[in-house]
Amino acid sequence: MSNRVVQGRMVTPEKLAELIEGEAPLEAESIEDADRDCPDCGSDVIRVGYMPTVTEFVTGYKCQECDWSDTDRDE
Ligand SMILES: [Zn+2]
Repeated sequence: MSNRVVQGRMVTPEKLAELIEGEAPLEAESIEDADRDCPDCGSDVIRVGYMPTVTEFVTGYKCQECDWSDTDRDE
């Protein structure tokens, strides 16, 4: 059971990655606790590893209570 509640909705790893990325990923791993707090609202942050393309693996972070999200990409 790796589905989590985000902003009041139950999401799968794939859906969580889509919320972070803006597009559905090719693959997504299980959702885990990110062990950090949201910089905007202080709520718990969860993370998910996913592949937006065949050559890229990204760890995405998402607040469970607000719109804040981030990735480990080097901008
Ligand atoms: Zn937040």
